[in-house]
Amino acid sequence: MDRLKGKVAIITGAAGGMGKADALLFAKEGAKVVITDLQEEKIQEVVKEIETLGGEAIGLKHNVASEEDWVSVVDAAIAKFGQINILVNNAGISDAVPFLDQTVERWERTMTVNVTSIFLGQKYVIPHMIEAGGGSIVNISSIAGLTGGSGAGPYTASKGAVRMLTKATAVDYAKHNIRANSIHPGYIETPMTVDLMKDEQMVQWFLMQTPLPRLGKPEDIAQGVLFLASDESSYITGVELPIDGGYYAK
Ligand code: NAD
Repeated sequence: MDRLKGKVAIITGAAGGMGKADALLFAKEGAKVVITDLQEEKIQEVVKEIETLGGEAIGLKHNVASEEDWVSVVDAAIAKFGQINILVNNAGISDAVPFLDQTVERWERTMTVNVTSIFLGQKYVIPHMIEAGGGSIVNISSIAGLTGGSGAGPYTASKGAVRMLTKATAVDYAKHNIRANSIHPGYIETPMTVDLMKDEQMVQWFLMQTPLPRLGKPEDIAQGVLFLASDESSYITGVELPIDGGYYAK
């Protein structure tokens, strides 16, 4: 309890999956959370869940690819809570289509939602972190940002870009006591993977790739996000943390 007491966090893509698990855990640990998503109704349901647990939250409709939306989200966070200490760039999309079947439009969509979003979030949040005397940015990449996965070239490229943008941010803003780290989930059961997980052969294949004998849960990722967001990791910046059941160790 209270590992994030007194802190204000923005978490994107928090209507379900990992972002929701982050939001619930952050609120439980004392953070005031600004949770955002394209899915407006679902984000308000998460706000209610947090309030029922005694936490404080606001939920906002937010397209992370839109600069205008980022300005509104950051303004709303400051208006409501007066500061921003933590930014979790979690929203993302997967587009697992073989490379030769991709189009420029699809490539650009993946890059905009997965990468430009993080550039924008950091651009508008960092000035408030500087004002607050520091902060922690946690960017959600993927094991696809560490190794060349098959059948998802644009997604892999986007998650590699998230990893390196995080490192550049860490180096540039360390002098302001702002840390930036990336998390690299393995195969995690969320709405993003729900259809894939219905295919028993696919599940067996995922399990064969993963030394620990189970798939990941959103809560497994949330524990890592919490650690990197909290002051417990105050000397850790610019690192990548795989949370993948050992996938990347092979
Ligand atoms: P999810 O689909 O359950 O959650 C992603 C959320 O982002 C959704 O609620 C969706 O509405 C939201 N979103 C999508 N586009 C958006 C936009 N333009 N603006 C605002 N919100 C938007 O997926 P998840 O599995 O919880 O994924 C969370 C993050 O983890 C993503 O960045 C994903 O790429 C990454 N990831 C997932 C896995 C996995 O196995 N599930 C593995 C590695 C990395």
